Amino acid sequence: MFNKVLIANRGEIALRIHRACKELGIDTVAVHSTADEDAMHVRLADESVCIGPPAPKDSYLNIPAIISAAEITGADAIHPGYGFLSENARFADIVKAHNITFIGPDAEHIRVMGDKIAAKEAVGKAGIPLVPGSEGALQSYEEARVEAEKIGYPVLVKAAAGGGGRGMKVAKTAADLEEAMSTAKAEAKGAFGDDAVYLEKYLQLPRHIELQIIADSHGNVVQLGERDCSLQRRHQKVLEEALSPALTDKERARIGETVRKAIEKIGYLGAGTIEFLYENGEFYFIEMNTRLQVEHPITEQVTRIDLVREQIMVAAGAKLGFSQKDIAFRGHAIECRVNAEDPRTFRPSPGQVTQFHPAGGPGVRFDSAVYTGYKIPPYYDSMIGKLIVYGEDRAHCIARLRRALSEMVFVGVDTTVPLFMDLVEDPEFQKGDYHIHWLEQWLEKSA
Ligand code: ADP
Repeated sequence: MFNKVLIANRGEIALRIHRACKELGIDTVAVHSTADEDAMHVRLADESVCIGPPAPKDSYLNIPAIISAAEITGADAIHPGYGFLSENARFADIVKAHNITFIGPDAEHIRVMGDKIAAKEAVGKAGIPLVPGSEGALQSYEEARVEAEKIGYPVLVKAAAGGGGRGMKVAKTAADLEEAMSTAKAEAKGAFGDDAVYLEKYLQLPRHIELQIIADSHGNVVQLGERDCSLQRRHQKVLEEALSPALTDKERARIGETVRKAIEKIGYLGAGTIEFLYENGEFYFIEMNTRLQVEHPITEQVTRIDLVREQIMVAAGAKLGFSQKDIAFRGHAIECRVNAEDPRTFRPSPGQVTQFHPAGGPGVRFDSAVYTGYKIPPYYDSMIGKLIVYGEDRAHCIARLRRALSEMVFVGVDTTVPLFMDLVEDPEFQKGDYHIHWLEQWLEKSA
């Protein structure tokens, strides 16, 4: 097992990783920007190193500074968390070249899955069902036109390097295609430095359903069921549930086994998520994330598996301590992403949290790095915590969620807690009857 792990991240996920390390008897090194000197992950870690100024490119994305911090402190592994360098194959290569273990998959798997075109090809070969679309990158507008006719409108132009919902444009008819393509290309070039785009059938009212897997280096792969992340705003997840209220046990078992076998074939290591759109009883792969996800705790609640602990153990070469037949889903879990934002306009609300009191009691977990007096810096993502609630079934979980939301106290900044308080009262939400556009429609309706 590792002696010392450097946590190359900030906020709640840095704390989550710290906690898993401490429970395994591992020392931790926090790295931080000058804006995060007083952050909780810095306070709790055994050691900390300042790696640069506030801008992410100068600190949390600063590979030489992070490698130096690992060398100076003698860390034997680096956990990248999510976001920042977590899906940067070059970083994984550099970490390895310094004889430090990267807690994640092989750089080659990060590279393939980071290119959505290559990813579709790889998982398609391994037996995973895909969204109908163009094969490979589009070389010209003429080619796009021919492909779009084959697929049938509406189509979605997507960036191969895309992420965070950027570089995606819908063409409802042939008349929109040229503009959709040039906008998506420009956006992708600006955001990712790569303007390769491809086409997908635009599914009208699908759900976003993703499967969690974990694999060790001895060939064992276990799938841990799905999360329903259909409640989104601007392609960003807002509330997630495990398991999905939309799947039957039979559908769940079938897609689970398809994914498990495919991941086994690919020879993947560590935690990963296979994202699908789900419509009319069919699954369509959209991408694979080769890292821990924000919403991993709801899977932990219904499987009673500590994903971060397992990630660390398999990275150290251990065998998974369970097999597929040991996995039994129990109860229901929901996560609300609490952002420091106006709950209706979503305008960021950084600043000092003058009073803070998290919800507690049975079945309630608040993963956050906030404390009373904490100053939320304006430089980073606005998510300040995740309220994760577990219940014996979905109705019980919603009742608890309503109760937990009413206990949350933040003074000094706006948060999205009031939004969730309204959402839990909606009859369609309560029935689990929603799709990926439902939340935006609901926001408009209730504005
Ligand atoms: P990103 O990597 O930018 O998050 P994804 O491929 O994961 O992009 O897609 C993000 C979201 O965009 C999905 O959850 C879904 O809401 C929407 N989306 C992506 N592909 C399609 C598609 N073919 N049809 C309809 N919606 C899509």
